[in-house]
Amino acid sequence: MLVVKVGGAEGNALDNVLIDLAPRRDYVLVHGGSNEVDRLAEALGRPIRWITSPSGIVSRYTDRETMEVFTMALAGKLNTAIVSRLQSLGAPAVGLSGVDGGLLTGRRKEAVRAVDNGRVLLVKDDHSGTVEHVNGSLIQLLFEAGYVPVVSPPGVTPQGELINADADRVAAHIAVAMKADALILLTNVPGLLREPSDPSSLIAYVPRERLRYFMDFAYGRMKKKLIAAEEALKGGVTRVVIAASQPPDPVERALEGTGTVIS
Ligand code: ADP
Repeated sequence: MLVVKVGGAEGNALDNVLIDLAPRRDYVLVHGGSNEVDRLAEALGRPIRWITSPSGIVSRYTDRETMEVFTMALAGKLNTAIVSRLQSLGAPAVGLSGVDGGLLTGRRKEAVRAVDNGRVLLVKDDHSGTVEHVNGSLIQLLFEAGYVPVVSPPGVTPQGELINADADRVAAHIAVAMKADALILLTNVPGLLREPSDPSSLIAYVPRERLRYFMDFAYGRMKKKLIAAEEALKGGVTRVVIAASQPPDPVERALEGTGTVIS
């Protein structure tokens, strides 16, 4: 079983991924949708604000209104578009947000530390959070009935609050829960690059014990992918591949080891 995550940033080739996945029945597809969230937020006159954590991780500032936009873009528009496209390619896809069947439950952070002009602030109305439990039996049930699940954030707390969870880390959690053979993170770059602006500087292999060292090469959102990789490996997944979504057959290529293999 595979868990495949496709990014939502500019430059991802979603359709290549769906065409490649269509004949398979052995995967959970997880998607992000950063670009779609930004576009919709802009269109609704609620532009996105960003916060930077003291360790340098940049994330969306998700107040209640932004959480609504996030849900519309991901669980609404994008998830439906992916599922309908997979169905047109003959795949029995079922779309689920992390709320459906309590698929992704966790907790919302009470406060998030953010750096603003060199000062550390506490942001309290942010909906970001961490998934702590995956309802693997729901995924199993769908597999046994011949369906393939297409999953998007948000997750949900036991109190019914929505959580803006990072899709890479959601994919890692699902991979652990389903004891996946591999976690494939498809994105808009060939993998982890030594020099982010130079696509030819690909780091082809990262031994798991050296992951912390290689984290120094990753900035911004690539860092989240490495954190997700670490979580997956710790949870028993043997192989994580970060690879490009743009070439044809991106899943097949990643499985053959093209990209950054972490194991
Ligand atoms: P996705 O939506 O596919 O998850 P992200 O935009 O979240 O994509 O993450 C991929 C981005 O991470 C790249 O486009 C690149 O700008 C950035 N990045 C930062 N550091 C690195 C690095 N060392 N190697 C590759 N990409 C990096």
